[in-house]
Amino acid sequence: MASQLLLNQIISILDPIQSQYFDENEILKVTGITTDTRTLKPGEIFLALQGNNFDGHDFLEDAVKLGAIALIISQPISVELFKQIPQLFVEDTLVAYQKIALWWRQQFKIPIIGITGSVGKTTTKELIAAVLGTQGLVHKTEGNNNNEIGVPKTLLALNTSHDYAVIEMGMRARGEIALLTQITQPDIGIITNVGTAHIGRLGSEEAIAQAKCELLAQMPSSSIAILNHDNERLMKTAPQYWTGTTLTYGLEGGDLCGQIIDPQTLRVNGVDFTLPLAGRHNALNYLAALAVAKVLDLDWTPLTQGLSVQLPKGRSQRYQLDNDVLILDETYNAGLESMLAALNLLKETPGTRHIAVLGTMKELGEAGWRLHYQVGEMAQKLGIDRLLIYVDEPETEAIVEGANGVLAECFKTHEALILRLQEIVQSGDRILFKASNSVGLNQVVNQFRSIY
Ligand code: ATP
Ligand code: MG
Repeated sequence: MASQLLLNQIISILDPIQSQYFDENEILKVTGITTDTRTLKPGEIFLALQGNNFDGHDFLEDAVKLGAIALIISQPISVELFKQIPQLFVEDTLVAYQKIALWWRQQFKIPIIGITGSVGKTTTKELIAAVLGTQGLVHKTEGNNNNEIGVPKTLLALNTSHDYAVIEMGMRARGEIALLTQITQPDIGIITNVGTAHIGRLGSEEAIAQAKCELLAQMPSSSIAILNHDNERLMKTAPQYWTGTTLTYGLEGGDLCGQIIDPQTLRVNGVDFTLPLAGRHNALNYLAALAVAKVLDLDWTPLTQGLSVQLPKGRSQRYQLDNDVLILDETYNAGLESMLAALNLLKETPGTRHIAVLGTMKELGEAGWRLHYQVGEMAQKLGIDRLLIYVDEPETEAIVEGANGVLAECFKTHEALILRLQEIVQSGDRILFKASNSVGLNQVVNQFRSIY
């Protein structure tokens, strides 16, 4: 196994159109590959990516000054300026980045777990990392590095100290999960669910299911699939793409079937687990993590006693304010399934009144009105006491229509919303905040907390 990259190897992986200022007899060790001069360390290769709003080729001079050992480029550059530094000229630098990441990943014989799904990827990734962390050192996706740049970046950060890797794979369009799976080559592939996120782009729930199942179609046939049994559409679509070994998990059935005994306790195969995160949806996410433990034949005992899991901002976050007011901050993002899960979580949280501060679920296209209406219906069905709706798209008002009979008010500015919240808040209130990230309800949470 190669534990370090050599420039010669990279040249043979990439087969560049041209390589210059490079001595084939010299062995050049590469300490890493970076696409960002702000994090470049001497000894790393600088790979110039091009996007809609940036071009890495604009930073080549910086890269050289900062100690880049070589450049991977797809644009001609001033020869005079860079005479001393090896340059690999390729057709597409992103493809080159992905090729190197795949090669690097192939040097590791540790279990690599790939996760996709409409919602719950990051949460499930963190739960799996916590579970595997009881046994060894886990490498995992950081931040939002779950796309065609983030996945190779994550894989390239694998090193010999790692015992496991958990890789999140996100998508916005068809074909993306296929590509990420080809690069990741997961030993275990998980699909958390198929929902309605990005339906505006993909057209139908069936198309979304097919796009998620690209993970199964592209995984090595010897890998193991872990699938959410409770998601009907997933269970219907998956067999068209996968005939290999499968373990299903669920709260309604499946190979690994959990039973919620009380809000803190999940029973699986007669064993009680203290849940690390509140809410039925998180019990399901924890089951996915237990399924990984089962596939890897790990000891369950350390997993029973409430592992500590810290999620990134805006997911399953709670703020206890003075006067027994509790905020449930789910402002990171929102789609139909996560809205419904969060409303359930709110209602399950003991308190005097249950108030939901909701905003738009973005990127839903023509389905937008119908899906916002469904959120309102659920709020009514659950008996949510009060709705405060931040309206930045006409379709958001459908929540109010769906919630027929629930006390609901709409706001067009953050300031008006915060003012009203201040007026109505009472001791014992439980207040959920949720919308798509770009709505900015996180700012509302912060401001409300600071002035409360
Ligand atoms: P993204 O596509 O933005 O990366 P993600 O799939 O990583 O999202 P998370 O960040 O884990 O999803 O969770 C986002 C929100 O979805 C959470 O705040 C929570 O409200 C909700 N959620 C998490 N897991 C589930 C689930 N299994 N079912 C429904 N909703 C869920
Ligand atoms: Mg995520």
